[in-house]
Amino acid sequence: MRSRTSPDTSTSPDTRTNSTTSPRTRATTSTDVLVIGGGVIGLVTAWRAAQRGLAVTVVDPEPGGGAAQVAAGMLAAVTELHHGEQTLLGLNLASARRYPDFVAELTEATGHDVGYRACGTLAVALDSDDRAHLRELHALQQRSGLTPEWLNGRECRRLEPMLAPGVRGGLRVDDDHQVDPRRLAAALVVACEQAGVRFTRAWARELSLVRDRATGVVLADGTALAAGQTVLAGGSLSGRLAGVPAAVLPPVRPVKGQVLRLTVPGRYAPFLSRTVRAVVRGSHVYLVPRVSGELVVGATSEELGWDTTVTAGGVYELLRDAHELVPGITELPLTETRAGLRPASPDNAPFLGPTALPGLHLATGHYRNGVLLTPVTGDVLAHALTTGELPDEARAFTPERFASGPQPLTTTTPSPEHLTELSA
Ligand SMILES: Cc1cc2nc3c(=O)[nH]c(=O)nc-3n(C[C@H](O)[C@H](O)[C@H](O)COP(=O)(O)OP(=O)(O)OC[C@H]3O[C@@H](n4cnc5c(N)ncnc54)[C@H](O)[C@@H]3O)c2cc1C
Repeated sequence: MRSRTSPDTSTSPDTRTNSTTSPRTRATTSTDVLVIGGGVIGLVTAWRAAQRGLAVTVVDPEPGGGAAQVAAGMLAAVTELHHGEQTLLGLNLASARRYPDFVAELTEATGHDVGYRACGTLAVALDSDDRAHLRELHALQQRSGLTPEWLNGRECRRLEPMLAPGVRGGLRVDDDHQVDPRRLAAALVVACEQAGVRFTRAWARELSLVRDRATGVVLADGTALAAGQTVLAGGSLSGRLAGVPAAVLPPVRPVKGQVLRLTVPGRYAPFLSRTVRAVVRGSHVYLVPRVSGELVVGATSEELGWDTTVTAGGVYELLRDAHELVPGITELPLTETRAGLRPASPDNAPFLGPTALPGLHLATGHYRNGVLLTPVTGDVLAHALTTGELPDEARAFTPERFASGPQPLTTTTPSPEHLTELSA
């Protein structure tokens, strides 16, 4: 559970004002780019913008915190494919391709090892329903030009001997890798500092507006920070910043996820050699083994506002499902339980780049793929901040796609399964 104090998220959005900066605000300092939020998305935006010669300030009481402290760090463009999300797949794959160079550059700049592991993923099925679900995913992947390999149960267990004897089959996905999000966030803070990014450890209270242009923020203590361009990268809180006109306020909501961390003692290593995941009776479960011996088991998906309580039910379900998949996990020490908030958008895709309000950009709504999308987001936002335009690969993710109500990102006909999801 997060221990630091966050702004009161229980207040109604109606308390937001559309005012210009109050005359009672304190001294103003100025910067080219002000990034609200120092999660992995705000940090990568700041780093890439600073590398392009812009003066950048990040406002966050705890830079390097946020959802990355909880996330598993799967870089799962292929196994996270869902019906109706083929446009998002393109962005996910573009970011996955950038990861090796991105990590090499970040490590070179900071000396930090971010735990990138090109280990692949095995998605398995335990019963006939699970197998039907996985077959459908496989067909969707193939229609999308992807080439995972179907394995029978014996072949799955040959790859991962700790799998339960009942595993019926699975998909071997050699391109879905992993990174350690905590290490990634820490490295990005250092990279920002080295590139000259300034950190203001405070909450932004309100966006400042002058003649229909965003001009920076007012902090919780009343200090005004002026900026030529402001980037709202506040994760699940992005829709709650006061002063943002309703027409450009991102429709982002928190989706809670509970995660467990176990430790694999040396005598059991290698426990798993790659990420193993499954849908067990309709619930997604994954096990992500790190080189350090940490084994991340996740994750619940709960629509409960900003609640980050770890519940007995959440822990029970994760352990129950993970145990069905890999019975040996009950031997491992349970070292941490935690819940975090995914910043979800109505179409599960991020908002990237300029809004209809001059001076205001969005970098938010990355939902369950924010760690995967970190490299491409940094490049897209740096491009937008220096040219005012979105690069071609990101045009579909303009914040303006919701300007006149939700628009689908893709023209693909939704499947019956997807329609059921939408109406649920
Ligand atoms: C359980 C779980 C598992 C996940 N697993 C994966 C995974 O395997 N792979 C993957 O790619 N992604 C995963 N994700 C998603 C990923 O973690 C997020 O999409 C990503 O971390 C979002 O980053 P962000 O910077 O946009 O937001 P956040 O990490 O939420 O950061 C936002 C920051 O903004 C700050 N902030 C907000 N409002 C203000 C304000 N007014 N003033 C100042 N600061 C402000 C906050 O303090 C915070 O530090 C997972 C998420 C969860 C919760």
